[in-house]
Amino acid sequence: MPNGSYALIDYKTGQASVSAWLGERPDDPQLPLYAVNAGENVSAVAFAKLRTGEMRFDGLARNADLLPRVRGVDTHNAARKHAASWDELVAGWRAELDALGQAFAAGDSRVVPKHLLKTCERCDLQPLCGA
Ligand code: SF4
Repeated sequence: MPNGSYALIDYKTGQASVSAWLGERPDDPQLPLYAVNAGENVSAVAFAKLRTGEMRFDGLARNADLLPRVRGVDTHNAARKHAASWDELVAGWRAELDALGQAFAAGDSRVVPKHLLKTCERCDLQPLCGA
């Protein structure tokens, strides 16, 4: 980036949403995981959407305009409900991903579908898992 920091970009031809990075047990933690473990100073994460009729970046950044149309955390409607700044967002990702990793390493295998009806709607294993 012009300011000497780095942007993490994930090229997508399918659906992708910033909302999948937010909150507890994020649905799509790949870029947050890269961001918290990068050795470099990361100041933006974004999907580069390569879809007919939708060629654009969609992401979050420390400040607006680091990448075209990518907002700062403080002005992104969904993100600012979870963090007031980029640093707070990344700290939240670190805490959440550390907790998930520790639970996984400890063998936590409780059945806790994140969005019960939506998560389980196409699954036939309810009789086995008890959800
Ligand atoms: S019904 Fe299927 S998706 Fe839902 S918790 Fe059980 S195994 Fe998981």
